[in-house]
Amino acid sequence: MADAKVYKNFINGQWVESASGKTFENRNPANTDEVVGVFQKSTAEDVKNAIDSAAEAYKKWRLVPAPKRGEILYNVAARLLRDKEALSRDMTREMGKAIAETRGDVQEAIDMTFYMAGEGRRQFGMTTPSEMQNKFNMTVRQPLGVCSFITPWNFPMAIPSWKMMPALICGNTLVIKPATDTPLSVANLMKVCEEEGIPPGVVNMVTGSGGALGDALINDDRVRVVSFTGSTEIGRKVSEGCAPNFKHSCLEMGGKNVQIVCEDAKLELAVEGALWGAFGTSGQRCTATSRIVCHKDVHDKFVKMMVDRASKLKVGDGLDESVQMGPLINQGQLDTVLSYVKIGKEGGAKMVTGGEQLTGGKYDKGFFVQPTIFTDVTRDMRIWKEEIFGPVLSITTYSDFDEAIELANDTIYGLSASIYTQDINRAYRAMRDVYTGIFYVNAPTIGAETHLPFGGTKETGNGHREAATATLDVYSEWKSVYVDFSGRIQRAQIDNQ
Ligand code: NAP
Repeated sequence: MADAKVYKNFINGQWVESASGKTFENRNPANTDEVVGVFQKSTAEDVKNAIDSAAEAYKKWRLVPAPKRGEILYNVAARLLRDKEALSRDMTREMGKAIAETRGDVQEAIDMTFYMAGEGRRQFGMTTPSEMQNKFNMTVRQPLGVCSFITPWNFPMAIPSWKMMPALICGNTLVIKPATDTPLSVANLMKVCEEEGIPPGVVNMVTGSGGALGDALINDDRVRVVSFTGSTEIGRKVSEGCAPNFKHSCLEMGGKNVQIVCEDAKLELAVEGALWGAFGTSGQRCTATSRIVCHKDVHDKFVKMMVDRASKLKVGDGLDESVQMGPLINQGQLDTVLSYVKIGKEGGAKMVTGGEQLTGGKYDKGFFVQPTIFTDVTRDMRIWKEEIFGPVLSITTYSDFDEAIELANDTIYGLSASIYTQDINRAYRAMRDVYTGIFYVNAPTIGAETHLPFGGTKETGNGHREAATATLDVYSEWKSVYVDFSGRIQRAQIDNQ
């Protein structure tokens, strides 16, 4: 603790202490003796200062030509690329996931930043004929103002970048509150923004607990967009907070994603997909595979192969290049996962591998759990229905394809789904009939690319999409412009008869 670096809030281009005078520690989930950094325990007053600064900066930033904003983002992306390794190592230390995965997380931020830099020269509107003579019609995107961002810990830099970069290219300014468990990656992102020329006040960061800061981030009249990624429970509160004065809210929430394994699937491939989907990031992905719907004829073989492979996955400190699965993020998440193991057993499912916390030696300093698989899972069971957000996979069987589709759709969520089959007709039927925002054929439920829309149906989202050009609709509003050069009054729908 004595040596740990103290990080401040970033407001109006300055690194400042919280008005509270209090701080909190960010510890490594693979080794809780290591304090990764000390961060500001902020108050509503800090949030107000950050919004003041964003509101002031908006007056100028919105007028900076979008291609110029793009040039700055291009520099931010190039710098992230240059510093990728150091940023990834910091991320593994605070979040725990394997270093190959944190490199992927930073790469996603790089991809998104380059992509949005390019949007500085696009953001196309349309021109269309007028129903009148000597009149010109077109549409332009306009920014909204100050955006508040509330982000989770599982993608500490990728998710913030999905929100920040499109907001900035459209001309908005922002305040971000990172997850309490992973503030360092956003602090690193702020530093890059500062050093690569984003003007003071355009990006602001306030650290601290969502419970303490949420209202201040959402309720301020000057905030016009709130973008939140996290649990459905908190997302609902954010949505309610935005409703009274019609703030735009973009919500990306929970998932209970499914992989269908057909009787004609290449089983080795389906096993690879399920392992990566279920146990990558220790199952702490919104798109993680948490349910398998497997044809009864291949079920036993599939399960045997899964158990064999899952039980051999190397669990440990993500900084070790050979580790395949890191720790869970914190004690609370470990308790949740272990409680679901108990719920699964008591509910009548059959645990075929895992289920134990890993202890002894280096494991005693972190939140490690074995990859866990349940079979004989039925639709009434809680492990089938509820998001666990850990390395716990539930497998069930089906006999005919309609049943597989019905089982796949048997969830309140709708983020991601996949099918393993060699039958193209089946693949297309599933693509059409499984009601999710993301769908994969012969690939796991995880693996989104930044130039395709990202988001989910039902209780996963509220109809918006992040990433791709779809996200520009969150951070801009259309203005329809009519230019009349006839020199006389022309009344639409009346004078053109
Ligand atoms: P969470 O508990 O909902 O927290 C998310 C963020 O909300 C954190 O910054 C948190 O701050 C903040 N928060 C907590 N209480 C709040 C309140 N009352 N008002 C405003 N903000 C509040 O979720 P999590 O545990 O970090 O992340 C896991 C969840 O995120 C899972 O459900 C997962 O599926 C979902 N997720 C979804 C996507 C997607 O794109 N669909 C992507 C990733 C994750 P603190 O950290 O201080 O608590």
